[in-house]
Amino acid sequence: NPPVPPPAPPTPMMAQYIEIKNANPDSILFYRMGDFYEMFFDDAEVASRALGIALTKRGKHLGEDIPMCGVPVERADDYLQRLIQAGHRVAVCEQTEDPKEAKKRGAKSVVRRDVIRLVTPGTLTEDALLEPRQANLLVAIARGRSAAGGMAFGIASVDVSTGAFAVSEVAAEGLSAALARLDAAEILVPDALIEELGPPLSETRAAVTPVGRDLVDPARAEARLAAHFGVATTESFGALTKPELTAASAIVGYLERTQLASRPPLSRPTREGRGAVMEIDAATRANLELVRRLSGEREGSLLDAVDSCVTAGGSRLLASRIAGPLLDPAAIAARHDAVAAFVEAPDLRRSVRSALSSAPDLARAAQRVAFGRGGPRDLAAIRDALAAAEALASRLGTIDDAPAEIASIAAALGAADHALARELAETLADELPLLKRDGGFVRAGCDGELDATRALRDESRKVIAQLQQAYAEATDVRTLRIKHNNVLGYFIEVPQAHGERLVKPPHVETFVHRQTMAGAMRFTTTDLGDLERRIGEAAGAALKLELDAFERLAARVAESWASLAACAAALAALDVTAALAEVAVAKAYVRPHVDDSLDFRLEGARHPVVETALRASGKPFVPNDADLSAPDGGGGLIQLVTGPNMGGKSTYLRQAALCAVLAQAGAFVPATAAHIGVVDRLFSRVGAADDLARGRSTFMVEMVETAAILNSAGPRSLVILDEIGRGTATFDGLSIAWAAIEHLHEVNRCRALFATHFHELTALARRLPRLRNATVRVAEWKGEVLFLHEVAAGIADRSYGIQVAKLAGLPNSVVRRAKAVLDELEAADRASPVERMIDDLPLFAAARKPPEPQADAAVEALDAIDPDALTPREALEALYRLKALR
Ligand code: ADP
Repeated sequence: NPPVPPPAPPTPMMAQYIEIKNANPDSILFYRMGDFYEMFFDDAEVASRALGIALTKRGKHLGEDIPMCGVPVERADDYLQRLIQAGHRVAVCEQTEDPKEAKKRGAKSVVRRDVIRLVTPGTLTEDALLEPRQANLLVAIARGRSAAGGMAFGIASVDVSTGAFAVSEVAAEGLSAALARLDAAEILVPDALIEELGPPLSETRAAVTPVGRDLVDPARAEARLAAHFGVATTESFGALTKPELTAASAIVGYLERTQLASRPPLSRPTREGRGAVMEIDAATRANLELVRRLSGEREGSLLDAVDSCVTAGGSRLLASRIAGPLLDPAAIAARHDAVAAFVEAPDLRRSVRSALSSAPDLARAAQRVAFGRGGPRDLAAIRDALAAAEALASRLGTIDDAPAEIASIAAALGAADHALARELAETLADELPLLKRDGGFVRAGCDGELDATRALRDESRKVIAQLQQAYAEATDVRTLRIKHNNVLGYFIEVPQAHGERLVKPPHVETFVHRQTMAGAMRFTTTDLGDLERRIGEAAGAALKLELDAFERLAARVAESWASLAACAAALAALDVTAALAEVAVAKAYVRPHVDDSLDFRLEGARHPVVETALRASGKPFVPNDADLSAPDGGGGLIQLVTGPNMGGKSTYLRQAALCAVLAQAGAFVPATAAHIGVVDRLFSRVGAADDLARGRSTFMVEMVETAAILNSAGPRSLVILDEIGRGTATFDGLSIAWAAIEHLHEVNRCRALFATHFHELTALARRLPRLRNATVRVAEWKGEVLFLHEVAAGIADRSYGIQVAKLAGLPNSVVRRAKAVLDELEAADRASPVERMIDDLPLFAAARKPPEPQADAAVEALDAIDPDALTPREALEALYRLKALR
């Protein structure tokens, strides 16, 4: 065998690729080659799978084929988005010099390239990569000693797409709820904390990026932050605590590391004091479906039901208000005052909303432009938003006695950079290209030199048309055309048959053959070449003038960035306020009274989402009252809601919690009257059976979560427990539910709603003075059960399980038999009153042996069940029915 030759060394280009790739091992490398971003080796395999694009080969490395795939630069955003969504990070590597320069260095030299940006989920700015109505937060966590003593977590968050930057500090117990609220796209976590913070991190949808000591360094935090903002000290930002400073500087450091080529402008970090917002843990948020459904979509969430904002910025602000309801009654009242002003002035509301609807996404457009990633349409967005701001400022100025919120919005809008607005309006054309390099975005007439250059360019185009005419006549080829493509530039094309004529005298003198195609031949001429150069020069000169104009405007935008951001914030706040008023009027919501008491009183309350859904199908929603107000000096009331499945218990419970969230977020609430003493923590749990149907939880999880509530709910909390204990054997479940109620009553002393199908628990009201029984009313009509969805004081006098089972289609024989069994059971129950057992030995009842006939009933019922035909939920329900027959 001949000796195997040693593998060839990598080509210079491959060597460059490998060097850059080695510097970015955690990212997929988009390596720019002409009009494509190419990926090689493992990256190519991963990306081709994730994107569903063809995997090819290019050359060899160490004797092996190099896998390759590529995406066109034009459509890179689309592919980037899909890779980011699939959890990847992408390093974008551009050519940083003109290929002609490289050629000058020698035939073999490679074009210089550099990674200009690492694309991560938390650092996106392009509209194509972002959800318009959703903030995209990058969050950093740092642990340290708080000013108050003790360890605390500093949390910094930035929306790179708008530059909004905030910091706060929480105690360890509050971290999980704080992260759940922020709902970040990406969280920077110090290496050392990754393991410890497992659960709170896994509850979020965020990509977790571990960061080393170099980024999370308390010793260097202050200096890095000050350097970023170009200030001597960060004192002017307010008194940031050590953990806050560290977290904020981690963000700044990470942006420097990932956004290599440019820096996104950031607002100075605003500090949110401890205890400013309602604490709502991840499970409660999910369960109440505040900003998205359990299944993930926005539609059907509380936010969706009350969002009638007309701008994306408004929707983003509303989402953050709903995610973080306030605790300060004065701040809440200020928001209500502003909403009320728009409720009372329908004309004003309409005109404001109509003006707002022509205001594009100023925050994101200004950010992109100031960040060097903007295009002509972003400039137009700024122009239009500023115009809307100016109109709105004068409209709002006409209100007498405007509430403070509206007055400050009006002031911010009035202070917007109207000179910039005029400059933009004068410079930008009516029709705008997406990319600045396409040119044509500067209005004709605003720059004399540009106009002259364009005239030259267009003139030459006319000359081309004349030339075509002349050549067609000279050669007598009617179909002769002058065309243009990127390879040849301008050329003359004639059908094959006529082409032969042009390569012979006399035409061969004029026409230089370039290409023969199937059916056509292509030529050029000296005149055409000259013209082409002139057109090219003029077009290039015109584009250069346009790009200069763009850079001038972009510099103006960057200069005015802070004022534009303030204007965007005011537009968003105005949109939210007017939109909440719109919803309040359209859906008959009322202004809630929120104060420092421990009251909780709702009259004629509805569930905002269920009501909206029912309305869509033309059905009425039955309003209900609720009163959990703490009697003087005592703890809050606990309302125990019993009644059949499908009676409306869950809906009733949730609507109370949602009203508290809306009220404290500054919105009106779906009720006819509402008085809410500030709720500082909100808890909501559903028994495992419901969750089981969603296939995500177990009894164990339910118990862990219930334990968390019982361990942490305080006197200002609002607790909602729905069918806790149903996930286990009846008596286990009953005893757990029982003990939990006693604990809420005696220890937590909070306002609570507790739904259960354990009727036995209603007897607790006699022993627990702040426990109130309520039931969802049901009527029977011709032997059918009707759910009235009405909540009334008292106890459901019997179980409607059998009627529900009948509705569900259980065989008549089984229904009849079940009725007979129930009669027997009730007779037995009357013989040994539950009352006595509960008062004396509450759980004694549990030890009671069932009478004989019930066993038969259970066997019969069991026979009637076809396990293969049941959903998990039906199976559980069947199990309960069987249990009840025992
Ligand atoms: P439960 O928790 O008692 O099983 P749900 O609260 O899940 O009952 O309510 C069952 C269904 O009844 C809901 O999906 C809704 O369509 C309807 N419903 C509940 N409450 C009302 C109400 N107040 N008015 C009208 N329909 C209601």
